[in-house]
Amino acid sequence: MNTRAWHRETMLLHAAPAQESRDGGTVSPIALSSSFAYETAEGLEAVFAGREPGYVYSRIANPTVAGFERRIAALEGGIGSVACASGMAAITAAVLGLAGAGDEIVSGNSIFGGTYSLFRQTLVRYGITTRFVEATDVDAYRRAITDRTKLIFVETVGNPKLDIPDIAAIAAVAREKGVVLGVDNTVATPFLFQPRTAGADLVIHSTSKFLNGHGNAIGGVVTDCGSFDWSGPRYGHLAAHHKRAGRLAFLVYLRNQICRDLGGCLSPFNAFLMSTGVETLAVRMERHCANAARLAEFLAAHPRVRGVRYPGLAGHPGHAVARRQFTGGYGALLTLRLADKAECYQFINGLALARDLANLGDLRTLVIHPASTFCRDLSGDECRAMGVSDDLVRVSVGIEHADDIIADMEQSLAALGKEET
Ligand SMILES: *Cc1c(COP(=O)(O)O)cnc(C)c1O
Repeated sequence: MNTRAWHRETMLLHAAPAQESRDGGTVSPIALSSSFAYETAEGLEAVFAGREPGYVYSRIANPTVAGFERRIAALEGGIGSVACASGMAAITAAVLGLAGAGDEIVSGNSIFGGTYSLFRQTLVRYGITTRFVEATDVDAYRRAITDRTKLIFVETVGNPKLDIPDIAAIAAVAREKGVVLGVDNTVATPFLFQPRTAGADLVIHSTSKFLNGHGNAIGGVVTDCGSFDWSGPRYGHLAAHHKRAGRLAFLVYLRNQICRDLGGCLSPFNAFLMSTGVETLAVRMERHCANAARLAEFLAAHPRVRGVRYPGLAGHPGHAVARRQFTGGYGALLTLRLADKAECYQFINGLALARDLANLGDLRTLVIHPASTFCRDLSGDECRAMGVSDDLVRVSVGIEHADDIIADMEQSLAALGKEET
């Protein structure tokens, strides 16, 4: 049977079984072993030398983590994945696998706050600089690329701006210039969109969010789509790996050099939780998207709400791209604007069901005031570029019954402006 023709829902469960268990168990055992023994010295040497496959030490590879990596690679249609301790560890590893001192990144400007801080502050101290461009302005990427550019970085859905870059158009620029296109697909998930199909070279995820879904583990992963020719002159540090490993050059370098040396490995226990979580991605995303669409419509029609941003609304500037690019919905994130910060706080404090916390992609509906939390260190100009203002609330819509989510927001909106008792 042609397993590549399976639908996403089927792929999630069957495409890449997490590690097969010898006794026929359908759930992957957790390999809580730091290291792996060999019968002979020759056997261990062969694994170290890369002549034989095998596990040595769980900082580099582990059977349970490998099962999770195979699942993500299958979901994204890639040739392989390397899992890391967090989404930030995955982004850091991918960047350091491509760029060194004197090199540059071209990045969309509406990216996740942690990634922005990495690019804007931390990496600068190590000689890697980033040129930020308007994330949906395809020509701006072309103009920003220099001989030193090693990575074009973009997110499929900006957050909290919720802008929708045209990945195929940006990929065409990347191809024309011979630069790697890395796409953070955390917010869209492979349920809505596989960046590979639009020409992306690397796909990066924080698996702490929708992929796992349950809000009980932190993790990240880098997937190579197999499209980039690693023998090119721009990536001279990969030439030797390309001779030995061909199109697996980057993944081998990432695992056996960068991740081995940096040490940000994923725990087998977290890999187990996230392998389990991802099995239900399709049904969760269907409900997330349906609930978000209903909530967006409710909020857009509410007299106290001054604006709603949701890519599924026809008036959203990215709606046409989202409709063409995504399948199955428009995601679970939306933002609303109220009168001012005080009203946002009153609204958040009046919610009974939605939780106020710094996460997204949980099963539960979450709200947060970005300007006073994860965006609090940004300048006024940076806030404008990222679409953050004092009157903005972000909602990560959960999988509760839509009527309950709406009723919760409705009662809190109704109380706005009334005397707080
Ligand atoms: C959360 C997030 C990250 C960082 O992931 P962690 O697992 O929290 O380190 C990166 N990118 C996006 C889009 C995110 O939402």
